[in-house]
Formats: sequence, C-alpha cells, structure tokens
Amino acid sequence: MTTLTKSHMVVAQNASGRSMNVPVYRLKGNIPGPTIYIQSSIHGAEVQGNVVIYHLIQALQKQVIAGEIILVPNCNPVGTNIKAGEYTLGRFDPVNGTNWNRGYFFDAEKVKDFADTVQPEDNIDEIRQQFRAYWAACIEEKLASPWGLGLAQQLNLKLQRLAVSADAVLDLHNGPVSTRHIYIPEFAKNAARLFNFPHCIFIPNVFAGALDEATFCPWWTLQEHLESRFGRPYHFDVVGFTLEMGSQEVIKFSEGEIDAASILCYLAAKGCLPEGSHQPKEMTRIGVDLSDYKTLYTDWGGMVEYCAKPGEKVKKGQVMARVLNIDELDNEAGSFDITAPCDLIPMLHFPSASVLSGTQLYKVFTQYTEI
Ligand SMILES: [Zn+2]
Repeated sequence: MTTLTKSHMVVAQNASGRSMNVPVYRLKGNIPGPTIYIQSSIHGAEVQGNVVIYHLIQALQKQVIAGEIILVPNCNPVGTNIKAGEYTLGRFDPVNGTNWNRGYFFDAEKVKDFADTVQPEDNIDEIRQQFRAYWAACIEEKLASPWGLGLAQQLNLKLQRLAVSADAVLDLHNGPVSTRHIYIPEFAKNAARLFNFPHCIFIPNVFAGALDEATFCPWWTLQEHLESRFGRPYHFDVVGFTLEMGSQEVIKFSEGEIDAASILCYLAAKGCLPEGSHQPKEMTRIGVDLSDYKTLYTDWGGMVEYCAKPGEKVKKGQVMARVLNIDELDNEAGSFDITAPCDLIPMLHFPSASVLSGTQLYKVFTQYTEI
C-alpha cells in the first residue's frame, strides 16, 4: 500500500511580505527501503522536470514502494516568476546575483570533526544515523545565522533540509539548448547504466555549491577520513545526481514520460520498486571526466548561427558557429567561423543568436569514451 501526502513549505517572501511556498509530495510504502529526494526547476527557466515529476507521481501512486520518495516540483517559485518579455531570467538570484544552484551547505572541517568522534567498533548503520542527525543540525545552524542569509542561500538550505534524509538526490535541470546528459559522482560510475541517459559526466569529490555535490561530498569525505583512520573500507552509498533533460523554456509531456521511465529504472535498481519492474535500456552511453567537459567561448560579439547540434559528434576544425559582423557586410569579413579546437560532442549551446564577446557558446565533451 502506497500513501501520498502533500504539504507546502515556505521558501521565500516577496516584498509585500507574502509567503512563497512549494508543494512537497511524499510517497511512502509500508516496506522499509531507501529515501529518495527529487526536485525540479531550481533554475526558473528549466521547467521540463516538473512534467517529469508529474509523470513520476502518476506512475508511483500505482506501485508498491519500499521506503519513501520525496518530490518537490518547481522548487524555486522566485526564479520561475522573473520574466523579461518572452524569457524567464531564472538562473540567478536577482537581489544578490548568485546562481540559484550554488548556495547549498558543505563544510569539510565539520565532517572531520565528526569523523574524529567515530570509534573503530561503531557499526556503519549507527555512523550513518548519527552523521545524518549531525549534518541536519549543521544546516539548521547555518539557517539560523544571526547575520541572515541571501535569498538564494536561504532557499537552497530550506530545500537541503528536506534532502538531508535521502540516500539519493535527483536534481532535475535543463540546459539552454541541450541534449540529455547527467552528472554522476565518480565513486558511483556504475549508476550510469541505471538511467537511460546517453551522455554522462563523472564528477570528483569537490564542492562548488550545487545540490548534487552538497549531497555526496559530506559522505564521501567522511568515508575517506574513516578509511584512513581505521584502514578498512566504509560504504555509505549516499549519492546525488544532476539530470539535464533537454532545453530550458520547454515543456514536452511525451518526453517527460520517457524521462520519468528512466528515473523509475533507477528507483527499481535502488530497491524502492519491485526488482526487475523497470529495466534500463540497452544503449550506447558516452562518459567524460568533468575536467574534459569544456566550455567554448566566443572572443567576438555578433549574431550567431549555431552549426553544431547538441549530441552530434564534431571533428577538429569543423565549423561550430558562424558569426555575422554587421560593420563588414559589404566585404569578406561580413561573416567568420568559429571552429572546433579538437574532436568533441556539444552538450548544449547558448540560446540566443545575438551574443556579446566572452559568451559561453558551447559546452562540450572532449576525450570522451564509451562506457
Ligand atoms: Zn540548471
């Protein structure tokens, strides 16, 4: 028997002092199992995850669930509502300018302080339980800072408070104009085969403020401290993933159903759903280390045609983009090409055809391998 409960959590207040809240859906089975946390639209223009969560809730209500799945769609109501004409300006907190996905909590020193209290005879379940409570208290302490916090960080920490109980966190995003790709921690590389994502980026134990890192860095760091102290392996298996599901400013119900099916495969593999109920596809998956995931900038401003399509292989020297130079339309300098510095696969490109110099035109896989 699966039960669904729905509540609302206040994450911000507007200038009129009115609360802005987000829905929190919890699907719980009466069999013990892992806790999974899934959110969408921390970047306000990246809306496809909401339709994925819709399909997930529709499907999960009819399934036997072990453990609990917590789903928070449209988790950033501030970001979604900042419009400028046709566009949603959903990437940055408009008050402080910070990226909405960079204000989560991690403190390596605090992990070390905890690791120093662990005794060699402590069993892994006890350590897991105690560290979770300790980490939740650290987030509460941060939220209660007497100096206050920026808008994005407050919102991030309120969401992280919900996610701290999870064994796996799935943060649903979109690229600007993008093909599907997923960020996976290096220690959980095998999870690449549990989703139906054709492109995988493997990330190290380095915290840069995002939710996936904020989920696994504390546990990975704790594991390393304990392994070096006691000379034996510890596996906490707490993971975080960022799923990039196509382009921003787009909702596609049919594709959302396919993405939801991919997530159901992962949930089945984690033991939330009956074994074998959802099988990942046999497909070619391409992987890259984060250090080989490169950004191609333009040194010039102008009007751009994007010639290289996300997901399609590009050879060194091939034209990636053609730039129109409006001061030279009467001569040969009226247009020029930006070419690929090496063999690569674009994952995403800038969404607008007019760019300033220094714009990130493309993000691309280099040195990639089949996995
Ligand atoms: Zn995003």
